[in-house]
Amino acid sequence: MRHLDRAELTQLLDSPVFHLIGDVADEMGVDAYVVGGYVRDLFLERPSKDIDVVVIGSGIAVAEAVARRMGRGAHVSVFRNFGTAQVHWRGEEVEFVGARKESYSHDSRKPIVEDGTLEDDQQRRDFTINAMAVCLNRERFGELVDPFDGVWDMEDRLIATPLDPDVTFSDDPLRMMRCIRFATQLNFEIETETWEALHRNRERIRIISQERIIDEIQKFMASDAPSRGWELLFQCGLLEIIFPELYALQGIETMYGRAHKDNFWHTLEVLTNVVRALAADDRERADNGLWLRWAALLHDVGKPKTKRYDPAQGWTFHNHNYVGEKMVPQIFRRMKLPMDERMKYVQKLVSLHMRPIVIADEEVTDSAVRRLLFEAGDDIDDLMLLCEADITSKNQQRKQRFLDNFQLVRRKLVDLEERDRIRNFQPPVSGEEIMERFHLPPCREVGTLKTAVKDAILDGVIPNEYEAALAFVIEKAKKMGLEVGRG
Ligand code: ATP
Ligand code: MG
Repeated sequence: MRHLDRAELTQLLDSPVFHLIGDVADEMGVDAYVVGGYVRDLFLERPSKDIDVVVIGSGIAVAEAVARRMGRGAHVSVFRNFGTAQVHWRGEEVEFVGARKESYSHDSRKPIVEDGTLEDDQQRRDFTINAMAVCLNRERFGELVDPFDGVWDMEDRLIATPLDPDVTFSDDPLRMMRCIRFATQLNFEIETETWEALHRNRERIRIISQERIIDEIQKFMASDAPSRGWELLFQCGLLEIIFPELYALQGIETMYGRAHKDNFWHTLEVLTNVVRALAADDRERADNGLWLRWAALLHDVGKPKTKRYDPAQGWTFHNHNYVGEKMVPQIFRRMKLPMDERMKYVQKLVSLHMRPIVIADEEVTDSAVRRLLFEAGDDIDDLMLLCEADITSKNQQRKQRFLDNFQLVRRKLVDLEERDRIRNFQPPVSGEEIMERFHLPPCREVGTLKTAVKDAILDGVIPNEYEAALAFVIEKAKKMGLEVGRG
């Protein structure tokens, strides 16, 4: 963090938009402050998009006057029932609000709102580091108002509430999610009393909508160390409430002295490995690997339901990948994650996540690798990245053997891709052609022939070429007793 005195703050805020707000506030005889995340990010040297301004008086009136002064090109949107207004100008977005005092009832996060002082307004904010204000009026431009010592907490890298944390969290339980999100994003610790209050108030999270919860989760999932967010959720007892399927992965059972690994901590390790691999990977990704991170988080989610103890094999999780695949849409629906191709992608990776390992563990045959390539299609690279991240064995020898075999799988993938072009492959003889040649209506035989050609190519019986495929189909059709037409 950077220490900023008034002169430095004045300099950092030396832009037309802040001076204009200050001048308009002076003329209207009210005080105006830039507040919250924008101020915090100046100290933390983080980029900040939106500017929040609090006015001791009517935020809407100041916003309208500011927009008038900016002239053409400024656009103001007023939200009367919230007492806020947004001004868009030269690519900047400023949100104005009047200072408020809030009181809450138990069963809702919608407060009763009255006009208040600056300090009232700062008190109702979530954390000390988000409660700092810098004055914009000309006489006091650049003056920091920090009654809860947010600067100290930034110095100590602490998340703490301005008031009694039980009050702050109980008033608006979404703040518990924000607490964990900020601790994760900023790599801050949670102050002890704040942490204890998280635990005490965890049940209150139930009054928060899933949309808001997932918003905070997505913010820490996209950060540099998302596993820490899940770990904090687990430790404070929120995970059990908001994500029982993930919580169920935790724990170790022992039978006749044989224990299985703790799949929750394993999952977090895999997620961390994926984030590390993504950082080293130079492929351009629109979503920053967010959905690959989700695939890592969910790859073993089917394990609790499939756990068995077998005297001969020890602990087994047979078909946990398929059970996991079935759970993905249910989890996405409940968590209010998108039910579209992003969900399908996560589902596919969860379903296939064992395959490269199994191949690497046995003999790496062309046929097995071709089939893998066929099923994974364009997601093959992400699948391989996930699988490599999944190797968390503490046994160095075992780990090395896996990694070596993995290199072999990767080399074969490249080989076969060049030779056979299997990725996104369509069998060279189409269903239409089969129907035409054998005078068949759409029927089971067509499907059988199509599958046979596909299998023959994937198994390396014939090359991925039209002539060979056609000869194969004709041969196969004869065996099935079908009459070959001229075609
Ligand atoms: P970021 O924009 O990086 O997510 P931020 O701190 O700017 O972080 P916003 O959601 O933009 O977060 O909110 C702006 C400010 O409004 C916060 O800094 C905080 O002072 C206040 N705030 C937002 N949500 C809450 C809340 N649920 N309870 C109390 N104060 C809040
Ligand atoms: Mg913000």
